[in-house]
Amino acid sequence: MLVPRSHPRAASLHIRERLVHGYRKGLVVEEGLLAHGRGEMFDYLMGEKTLKTSHDAVKAASRMLLLAKRPVISVNGNLAALCPREIVVLARASGAKIEVNLFYASEKRKKAIAGVLKRSGAKEVLGLDARCSQKIPNLDSARRVVDERGIFIADVVLVPLEDGDRTEALKRFGKKVITFDLNPMSRTAQAADITIVDNVTRGMQLLIKSCRKMKKCRLGKNFKFDNKKNLSRSILAIKNNLGRMAHA
Ligand code: ATP
Repeated sequence: MLVPRSHPRAASLHIRERLVHGYRKGLVVEEGLLAHGRGEMFDYLMGEKTLKTSHDAVKAASRMLLLAKRPVISVNGNLAALCPREIVVLARASGAKIEVNLFYASEKRKKAIAGVLKRSGAKEVLGLDARCSQKIPNLDSARRVVDERGIFIADVVLVPLEDGDRTEALKRFGKKVITFDLNPMSRTAQAADITIVDNVTRGMQLLIKSCRKMKKCRLGKNFKFDNKKNLSRSILAIKNNLGRMAHA
């Protein structure tokens, strides 16, 4: 049974502090703080716990990453501030490349993010040099510019905390998209192939564990995951939790 609360728990306060620290270090922009607030609200409604449906999505995502030929983790400021070490560990566990891709891009911010990733153990970070010059068609803003060794040729892209325009553009460009999004109704959540409705700080750790476990198994090439159905089940789980909160 999930317990209702009138104020955020220590875990969510700790996550906020990491984000504010990232803001002060130049990784996160003001808009990123606002996007986090939206996510936090959904996390509150979920009881700040991973849903059963999110565990199912994590399993499917690890499978998709391990079966991919050229998987890439797309990193923005919020993700780098919240889980730099997990990005590096997941890249190792899944064989994915790491690419910095920002909505509000500047060389200074890209460098700050790459620096954090490198200090967390990343050997290679894409999206920084002259080879980051290819474009995702039909997309405005700096996010359309991608690395020719990374997202441009990727078959599977993990885009945590993404906005709908870019997710839809990646889909039109033929990529399989996995996302973390606390809001199961966002355009990104709805457009992705696999949506992990969970706080990225919990979900990344689960995804790493699942990749490590799945690596030891023989994976069949074909697997089915009904993202829309799983999202509907997630929305229902949140609704039920709300009902419990209201009647507690
Ligand atoms: P869309 O364009 O996809 O409809 P949006 O306009 O809400 O979504 P953004 O403002 O870019 O897009 O927000 C990014 C998304 O990330 C939001 O849906 C928010 O719920 C989610 N989010 C924020 N923080 C976290 C977090 N820590 N873990 C998981 N999801 C998060």
